[in-house]
Amino acid sequence: MSNRTPEHAGWYLDEYDGPRFWEHVNFRGGQPYLSDPIARIGADAGECWVWQGWTSNGYGRFRAFGSGVTAHRIGFQEFGGKVTADQDIDHLCRNIACVRHSHLEAVTHAENVARGSRALATHCKHGHEYTEANTIEQVRAGSKFRRCRACLVESRQRTYQRRKARAV
Ligand SMILES: [Zn+2]
Ligand SMILES: [Zn+2]
Repeated sequence: MSNRTPEHAGWYLDEYDGPRFWEHVNFRGGQPYLSDPIARIGADAGECWVWQGWTSNGYGRFRAFGSGVTAHRIGFQEFGGKVTADQDIDHLCRNIACVRHSHLEAVTHAENVARGSRALATHCKHGHEYTEANTIEQVRAGSKFRRCRACLVESRQRTYQRRKARAV
């Protein structure tokens, strides 16, 4: 069996479990997040590393240290990522089978739930619908965000009105 462990991995699993884990990963998982308006990474984040082993509810599972652990949690920690027991790992690429550390971020459970509900939101907090025409995608620090165009226009108009009022 060839060792498919990527360079710089090996922070979490030992020399026995490491190769066993990485043998189940397809490093050419493509960039499905590029067509996902809610994904929070840009094209420079590279391909998803897709788990092809045991899964449960769509999430990869791997037996290590005597129990089943989610595969993305291992992928994150294999590159030195720090996650506490009460933190979740958020998929910035929204591809739940992905185990690539740079597509993952450790967040509090509350933040993860909030992100999930924002991601599912069909309307901005002011009630404008996130249609294709009304949605502006922005990439900041490598993460993608949705912004409401109607809100942006309104805030620009408010700024303009304020400036005009002051100028008079
Ligand atoms: Zn990914
Ligand atoms: Zn809005």
